[in-house]
Amino acid sequence: GYVARSAFKLLQIQKQHKLIKAGSSVLDLGCAPGAWLQVACQSLGPPKDGGSVLGIDLKKVKVPPLHCDSRVKTISADVMTLPSHQLRALSPKQKGFSVILSDMCPSVSGITTKDAALSVELGMRALYLAVGRRAALSVYADEDGNQEGKQSDDDSSTSEKSGVLKVGGNLLIKLLESEDAKEIGQISKPLFTKSSWLRPKATRPSSREIYLICQGLKPDEDK
Ligand code: SAM
Repeated sequence: GYVARSAFKLLQIQKQHKLIKAGSSVLDLGCAPGAWLQVACQSLGPPKDGGSVLGIDLKKVKVPPLHCDSRVKTISADVMTLPSHQLRALSPKQKGFSVILSDMCPSVSGITTKDAALSVELGMRALYLAVGRRAALSVYADEDGNQEGKQSDDDSSTSEKSGVLKVGGNLLIKLLESEDAKEIGQISKPLFTKSSWLRPKATRPSSREIYLICQGLKPDEDK
C-alpha cells in the first residue's frame, strides 16, 4: 500500500502525462510521508534500468516506504533556503534532474488568502530552483524583451543561475488556486514545450488544490 492518498494523484498524472520514465533522475520537493517517493520509484521500472529519486522535506521520512529501493534517498531540509548549487551537488553526476516534483504546501491555517499566498511562495521556489534566473527574468522582462536586471538576489554568491532541471525535463507543481498561482503558469509557459493544469480525481471536492504540469524545458538561449 501507499503511505498517503496523494499517491493516487501522482498515479493519475503519471498515467496521463508520463512525466517520469525509466532511468529518470527525480527530485521530490516536500516528499514526506513518502507516497510520491513510492510512485516515483515504481515509475523508474526495475532497478537494472537505473534512475534515482531524491526526496526533500522539513520532516524526516520514515524509510523505506514499500516499493522504494536503494535508488531512493531522502534528506531533511527547508526548500525555501536550500541553495540551488547545493541541490545540484546532490544530483546525479552534478548534472541536474530530469524530473522535479513539488507537492509542498503550508500547514493549512484555514485562512484562505494566507494559505494561497504561502502556496504561491513554495510554488515559485520550486519553479526558481528548476529554471533559475529565467523564472525571475520572465516577470521583469519589459515589452521589448529587455531585461531590467531586477532578478532575485538568491544564490548571487555563486555562478549557478541556470536551475537544476535539465533541458527537456519535466516539472510538476502543486498549488492552491488563486490569481498568483495562475501567474506561475504564465511565467513557466514560454519556458516549456507544453504546459497544462490538472485537478486529479482523488482531490477532495472542497480542496482548491491544482497541479501545474510543465513538460520539456527549453534550452536557455542567453547562455
Ligand atoms: N507528496 C507527499 C507524499 O506523497 O507523501 C505529500 C506531501 S505533503 C502534502 C506536503 C509536504 O510539504 C509536507 O510534508 C511539508 O513538511 C512539506 N513542506 C512544506 N514546506 C516545506 C519547505 N519549506 N521545505 C521542505 N518541505 C516543505
